[in-house]
Formats: sequence, structure tokens, C-alpha cells
Amino acid sequence: MPGVFHHALINRHACLRVAQALLLCLCLTGAASAQARVEPFRFGEVDLEFLDQIKQLDKKFEDQGLVYREPELNAYVDRLGRSLLKPEDQLENVTWRFRVFRDPAVNAFALPNGSIYVFTGLLARMETEAQVAGVLAHEIIHVRNRHSYLSYRSYRKKMLTINLLSIAGAYSGMGGFGASLAAQFMLAISVVGYSRELEKEADLDGAQLMTASPYDPKAMIIAFESMQQKYEVDLDGEPFYGDHPKTKDRIAYLNEWLSKSAPRRETPSAGLSKEDYQKNVAGVTRHDIELAIDAGLYRTATTLGKRLIESQPELAANLTALADAYTALGPRSLEPTAEEKSGQGKREARKRRSKLTLQEEERTLAATAAGQERQKINFAEAEKLYRRATELEPNYALAWRGLGELFEKQKQSQPSVEAYRKYLELQPAAMDRLMIMRRIKTLEPQAAPNR
Ligand SMILES: [Zn+2]
Repeated sequence: MPGVFHHALINRHACLRVAQALLLCLCLTGAASAQARVEPFRFGEVDLEFLDQIKQLDKKFEDQGLVYREPELNAYVDRLGRSLLKPEDQLENVTWRFRVFRDPAVNAFALPNGSIYVFTGLLARMETEAQVAGVLAHEIIHVRNRHSYLSYRSYRKKMLTINLLSIAGAYSGMGGFGASLAAQFMLAISVVGYSRELEKEADLDGAQLMTASPYDPKAMIIAFESMQQKYEVDLDGEPFYGDHPKTKDRIAYLNEWLSKSAPRRETPSAGLSKEDYQKNVAGVTRHDIELAIDAGLYRTATTLGKRLIESQPELAANLTALADAYTALGPRSLEPTAEEKSGQGKREARKRRSKLTLQEEERTLAATAAGQERQKINFAEAEKLYRRATELEPNYALAWRGLGELFEKQKQSQPSVEAYRKYLELQPAAMDRLMIMRRIKTLEPQAAPNR
């Protein structure tokens, strides 16, 4: 599973480079103007070719395991998205599909064929159903108003004119998608967004769409506000949904629209309450915590784990997810230190990241006195949580695996081997059985005669 996820990460970095060329183009052309489109959209050859390549990209997401496979949750998100559609949204070359994308970033994106993806990271971060609806409404407008076709037309033209196609070709191996220009364009858009003008249109028309739905459009603003909250030290610059000045701006014009132009609401917003929503997304939040840990987003993982515990403190699965996050947090503090947030701290972190693997970076941090102290605290917290999980549900296998890893990290071979054995006993068909057996062998070569 982590292997699959790293694909997505590689993509994001390659995307940022493509995005730079893209932003240049969008700025040069002023992008597609919102006013110029009163008549219905007409498909030309370039558009149909674009659509074809996007359909292939869509299929690749599925083939590469980037779509979260949990029928109930996907059905929930699909229902939620469809509840916002209007009869006039039955559009040429659009098949609406709302699905979940396995990526811990707080993000969502829409493909022009009507496939709308919300990230596991976004579902885990939002607090109510109405907030997710707000993000989906925005994405629906991108599809309905054909934003990607319009932007791609001008992008392509610009690329041909200034002969950037050959430069773009250099990125074409990115992330195993064997990406066509169209696919690269779309992946970059999913990270940085469209032109300011089109994004504003998606926000305002999206808010309008919400006004016509049972959801309160204010939830859209609250969603944007919660996206501004950061748990990690930002080393790369922000993707579209997390961009501070842009988000501030969006919150301001949405508030203005709501107070001046939105019709008064008589009924309270529809959708699951905070409590029920969080229960509904608990499973995907736990999955997202794993993805976040694999991506090195340990603080995000820990914060999400704490939220899980707040809503359901007696669930072994939740306790284990938080314990996994504390184990991964290791030598770091939950809040970034002032030093880490300083320019110097960021430069050092970038250097470490480019030179070291996550494991090597961990060892470097754990070698300092402060790192050791923090690690002791985080590991103790993790152990407490795993123990509590095994008390509540003695047969919850993952808690035992977590304990095994935690002891292994602390070089306590005997309890580690015992916990790993307990895990395999409870889950004999575990996917990682061979790996765990290898670890047991390494930890205690002479103690495993019959396995
Ligand atoms: Zn957008």
C-alpha cells in the first residue's frame, strides 16, 4: 500500500514543476474569460482528444490503486455529490461520479468527464457533511462550466507558440502515468488550481449551487477556513486549497456574496451533524492516518488520531491509529518548534529531506538530546494507547503488530517477538506475514524453532 501512495507523492513534486510552466501560460493568456461563454460549449477536435486522454488518466487512477476501495464510503460521497446536481447538469460528455482518492493532502479535484475526487485527507479534515458538500459544489462548477477544456485550449496554444511542448515532454515519465500533455496539465491543475478568475467563478457559482440545495452555503466558508490550519512545517509552498492569501481572499468575497446576494435561509443546514459525520468517516480517517505516516506527515497523522479518539475513545481501531501516529512522530514534538519554523530551520529540513531517507532523517533527529526526550514521551504514549486497545479488544490484531514495532524500535527484542507472534496468531493470513516472520527471525534467531 505505501508503494502505491509514493506514486502520488512523486507526481505531486513533478506536478509542481509542470505547474510553473502552466501558471506562466495561464498568466500570459489571462486564461479563459468567464464573460466570453454564454452560448453552450462546443466540442472541437482538441477538446475530444483531451477528453480521451483524461478518460485514460481516470482509469489509471483506478488501476494503480489510488481510488479508495470502500463501497459504503464511496456510495456516501457519491450520494452527497449527486444531491447538489440540477437537471441541467446532464451535460454532453459528462458522467458524474464522486469518489475518494487515497492521498493525505487536503484537496479535491474534478476531471472534465465528470469524475470528481475528494482526497482521504480532505474527508478526514472536514468537520461536517455540509463542509464536504461545499467543496464538491466548487468542483461541480469546474465541470459544468468546462473550466479544464477552456484552460487547456489556451495552455496548449501557448505551449505550441512558445514551443514548450518539448520541455513538457521531458516530464512525460512522471509518476508512472506515462503522462500525456493533457494528463500532466490536469495533474498540475489538481495541485495549483485554475486561474484566479475561474476559481472565483467556481466559488461563487458553487455557493449559489449550495443555496439551492439543503446545505447552508456558509459551510463552504468554514471549510476554507479549516483548510488554512496547518499541522506541518511548510517546505514546498502550498497547493491550491491550502494557499493562505488566496484562501483569505476567497473567504472575503464569499462572505460578501452571502451577506449581500444570498437569499435568507429559513431552515437549518442539512447533512450529518459533526458527531455523526466523524463516525461516518472514522474508517477513512484511519486509512488516511496510515497514508499520512507513509508520507512523513506525522503531525497531521497524530492530530487526526486525536480527533478520532475525541469522537470514539473506546474503539481499539482508533486507539491503535493514534498509537501508530505517536510511534511515527518519534523524536518530534506535536507542535513544530519555533526553530523548525524559522527560515534556517526550513533550509535545514529541506536539505535533510533531499539527502536522507525518512528513516535516516529519523535517526538524525533521535540522536539529539531533545529528540531522545521527545521520543521517550511519544513512545510511552503509544504504548499506553496500544495497551488500552488490547484491553478493550484483546483480539484486535493491529494493536499487537503496533506493539511489536514499538518494542522493536526500542530494541526490546523479547516483547517485540511476543507481540508480533500474537499478531500472526490472530491474523494468520496477514498481508505482511512474511515480512513479520523475517523480523521475528532477525530479532530472535534461535527462539523460533517451529515457525
Ligand atoms: Zn477549483
